[in-house]
Amino acid sequence: MRYDERDTVFSRLLLKIGSNEFDEYYSQNPGNKQCDMNLKMKKKEKMAKSAGISNGKSKGILFMGKSEEKSQNKSIMSIDPNSSDHEYAAFRLMVEYQRLASSINDEALNMDVNPTKRNIPPETMSVLVKEFLKLSGLDAVGVAEIGPDDLYSHRGFSTELHKYGDEINLDYKYAIVFAVPLEKDYINRAPSKELFMSAMLGYAKSSEVAARLAMYIKDLGFDALTDSSFTYHSPISFLAEKAGLGQMGRCNSVVNPKYGNRTKLAAVLTNLPLAADGKIDFGLKEFCELCRRCENNCPVKAIASESSTSENGEKYWKHNHISCMEMWINSGNSCGICMSACPFSQGTDEELVSRMKDSPGVMAEILEKHSEKYGKRNYIKEPLDFMPPK
Ligand code: SF4
Ligand code: SF4
Repeated sequence: MRYDERDTVFSRLLLKIGSNEFDEYYSQNPGNKQCDMNLKMKKKEKMAKSAGISNGKSKGILFMGKSEEKSQNKSIMSIDPNSSDHEYAAFRLMVEYQRLASSINDEALNMDVNPTKRNIPPETMSVLVKEFLKLSGLDAVGVAEIGPDDLYSHRGFSTELHKYGDEINLDYKYAIVFAVPLEKDYINRAPSKELFMSAMLGYAKSSEVAARLAMYIKDLGFDALTDSSFTYHSPISFLAEKAGLGQMGRCNSVVNPKYGNRTKLAAVLTNLPLAADGKIDFGLKEFCELCRRCENNCPVKAIASESSTSENGEKYWKHNHISCMEMWINSGNSCGICMSACPFSQGTDEELVSRMKDSPGVMAEILEKHSEKYGKRNYIKEPLDFMPPK
């Protein structure tokens, strides 16, 4: 079954009350209405509170770049109009990088495909695209063959290219999926402005790299489409799992053996002939049964304590997206505590990780070492050097 992007909490939160889209969505999904309205009210109150303490020193509201401004996501990137000059300067770092990523993404979308197709064996081409990403500083990358259920069925946001509710009918065979690791110094301060900045910088970097990779592929004579924060065509965590970047953990994100869940994911969809990678199993599902760090650290109990089994027999943990979003709203558009809590996000002994599958003793050793070093989780209270004092 394909996921419908309109069902994501992000999409639901952006529906304008009283619009045709709003009425239509909730007439078909009445069960979501009350909790979504509560979230909308909380968001509104939070924004009003920020605006209410303004004392005429407004520095203006900063948004993402051109493409994003045209989408309905722009409120995500606002900066408190009451921010200090120091805070304003720090946040411009992120906004300028978003603008750069946005303009490169536009360039990739508008670029024509080279009419001369380069004939390269799929295995060689897979090595080349991975080398391209390695030269961009990224080593968590894989290729997935796109199956009938891997892309969203309908658009949940309006963008320059699509309208809300449009069916997604894309004919691409492969997805090159990669992960951009977020800085530990930032995520270990979660929930905080540092966490929010790192998430936005991660989105920007992943979008920029996806755009450059799409241009490279178009120049080789094959169509390519970015699947990044400027427009996701897929529930990307599942594509990442299929491409072998990691396994879905208790935290409801892909956990990579090297970077844990402190990543932002993006992909390029293409018909360039490639050799697909397979899923990996490094024993994460069993590890998550023992670990529970994300569950125990989540302040709103959004992470399940009991596992469920999917139709295809895979273990997964239900996620309370509403509670999670409420926490995001309350803490200023981000939380990320579960990223800092995951042992793999902090870096685990690679040799032990390579031996942990089917070895409860090795798993226990990893957890013990993690607890000795970080306790409940690695939390840094002081702001980063360049951030304004709290
Ligand atoms: S982001 Fe925060 S609220 Fe959401 S699941 Fe993680 S720890 Fe819980
Ligand atoms: S914190 Fe532990 S339980 Fe949660 S996803 Fe990471 S490994 Fe799994």
